Amino acid sequence: MRRTRLGDALLDERVTDGPSLSLAYLYPDLMNLYADRGNVTCLQRRCAWRGIELRVTTVAWGDSLDEPQDMYVIGGGQDRQQRAASDGLRHRHADCIGRDVADGAAMLAVCGGYQLMGRSYRDADGTVMDGLGIFDMETVHPGADVARCIGNIACRWQGAHLIGFENHGGRTFLGAGASPLAEVVKGFGNNGRDGGEGAVAGTAVGTYLHGSLLPKNPHLADHLLTMALRRVAPEYSLAPLDDDVEWRAHRAALGIAGVSERR
Ligand code: GLN
Repeated sequence: MRRTRLGDALLDERVTDGPSLSLAYLYPDLMNLYADRGNVTCLQRRCAWRGIELRVTTVAWGDSLDEPQDMYVIGGGQDRQQRAASDGLRHRHADCIGRDVADGAAMLAVCGGYQLMGRSYRDADGTVMDGLGIFDMETVHPGADVARCIGNIACRWQGAHLIGFENHGGRTFLGAGASPLAEVVKGFGNNGRDGGEGAVAGTAVGTYLHGSLLPKNPHLADHLLTMALRRVAPEYSLAPLDDDVEWRAHRAALGIAGVSERR
């Protein structure tokens, strides 16, 4: 187990006089398509700017993980990498993750990582990978000869938009125990049919949005931090940040997706 502090330079300049959070960043060596790593950097920056310490533990496939965590992040990956990730998650890390998420730890799982947090993923070759069942859902890849879901995606979420980029072959169908995270405005989302994007189960959030997702969706970044802080420091509320640049990026991405803003 290695402990990395992605925002060291910044943290050193700031007084971390707020609460302290722990985050396990799962399998960055296997699951880091489209710079999903930026989601962790974004969370760490938004904490540091507020005097919150976010201790990031990078968890590789063979690492042990016993200490309770306040947050989990996992990115996307290709089918081959997902097979290894599925194996590692189930045999090494399922207990820790399941225990903490049931206890209110926040989770962000993106694309391939999202699929593996469901019950199962059947990949393009027909190999079925078992997931952790954090989300009541199943994902099926219809085969390499069927068009992938690729492109800029915009969704409605909590009266605002989420914006990102999707590229997945798998089609995800939610069961009764999970709700969609957002409503697709432009793009495919979970399966290109029912208008749902991503999943929510308690404090766990799954999504097909790559990107990096959080730097240009700062409201979702703060939502995850708020959920994680709820049990660590229930009285604490996140101070607003001067994130005009992030919102400009958000609006630019919305424009690229061809969606006009309605906030
Ligand atoms: N391999 C998965 C699929 O094609 C996930 C891809 C991804 O994470 N972008 O559906």
